[in-house]
Amino acid sequence: MTDPLLEQAEKAAPRQRFILEDTGFDEVPVKYRRFYRRWGGPPDPLAPNEVVCPVCKVVIRSTRELRPGDRVYCMPCMSRLIVIEGEGGRLEATVSY
Ligand SMILES: [Zn+2]
Repeated sequence: MTDPLLEQAEKAAPRQRFILEDTGFDEVPVKYRRFYRRWGGPPDPLAPNEVVCPVCKVVIRSTRELRPGDRVYCMPCMSRLIVIEGEGGRLEATVSY
């Protein structure tokens, strides 16, 4: 498992794919760095493949578009999260126990 997006069930329309670049996030091993970046707060817009970890406020990035119901893993704080649709249709993540 390298991509934070877990157990992708491709039932619906194909997902948009994204090329991830290393943004210098150094709290995880080099091979995982491109899957995370620091969040600049509310003015920092998130792409369709990104969601903010509610625990450590790091942006989790997948090579694929994220959708509500997706499970993602935040390596920096080792949280398992579920993607939900928040206010205004924006994607948010909530902790999965
Ligand atoms: Zn986290």
